[in-house]
Amino acid sequence: MIKYDLHSHSTHSDGKLSVEELVQRAAEKGVNVLALTDHDTVAGIAPAKQAIADLNLDLELVPGVEISTRWHSFEIHIVGLQVDTQAPQLLDLLGEQQQKRSERALKIGERLDKAGFQSTHEKAMLLAERAQVTRAHFARVLVEQGAAKSVQGVFKKYLSRGNTGYVPSTWCDMQTAIDAIHSAGGQAVLAHPARYKMSNKWLRKLIQEFSSLGGDAMEVAQTQQAPCERQFLGQLARENNLLCSQGSDFHFPLPYIELGKNLYLPKDCDGVWQRWQ
Ligand code: AMP
Ligand code: MN
Ligand code: MN
Ligand code: MN
Repeated sequence: MIKYDLHSHSTHSDGKLSVEELVQRAAEKGVNVLALTDHDTVAGIAPAKQAIADLNLDLELVPGVEISTRWHSFEIHIVGLQVDTQAPQLLDLLGEQQQKRSERALKIGERLDKAGFQSTHEKAMLLAERAQVTRAHFARVLVEQGAAKSVQGVFKKYLSRGNTGYVPSTWCDMQTAIDAIHSAGGQAVLAHPARYKMSNKWLRKLIQEFSSLGGDAMEVAQTQQAPCERQFLGQLARENNLLCSQGSDFHFPLPYIELGKNLYLPKDCDGVWQRWQ
């Protein structure tokens, strides 16, 4: 059995492990095929491939990316798998998204500083270094400044939709992301469909629309999910003619989230990797 983990992050976005540490850990955890899917960047792909070669690891790297999109009032993430990291249309789109990330970070910083925190933009940028700056970086800064005990707590109080530090998104739409992924020869995968805090009615609408726009697959299996969720998502995938994907969405080691952990598809589900053979 090949162990696939098709969603992970490195220090090129909001992950805490360098690509070297990430690929080494994936191999240690028995992952055979790992997709690196940093937020709105493919900058980590070449160094990750290099690290696998240098460390002589028995690991296949799938070049990937996780693109933020807007759909109604939601921020929907679309993973691209097997993308050509040189494809011009994809690189153009990622350039625009990166610009939007920088502009949004300035605004988030202004709002948080007005709310009484100190130099949050500068500190988040320092944490991110040359990586794509995300709300997760701001969350770490706010934990340091005592806003809440945990990153999750900070998201709940300051960074989620409707909170003081939330800046409404200007991300591209789903069609633009799907088309850019296709132009790069990749598959477009709807990421973590059960995590958008929407009713099942909206979720069905989202999946239907994603499929009709040309989306290829959706994530069905995650490391941590409610017992019935996998079956339910598998059924929705089948109903909408989507292939199925699985991924840990690993950002850093946690007791309950690990590379390759608990990843398998329900029966009667076709893996997105069937397209790769
Ligand atoms: P951004 O793409 O900049 O909006 O940041 C979103 C990232 O923040 C996600 O990819 C997660 O890694 C992280 N994140 C979002 N919501 C939460 C949460 N409630 N708790 C912890 N991390 C979160
Ligand atoms: Mn993230
Ligand atoms: Mn995501
Ligand atoms: Mn992710």
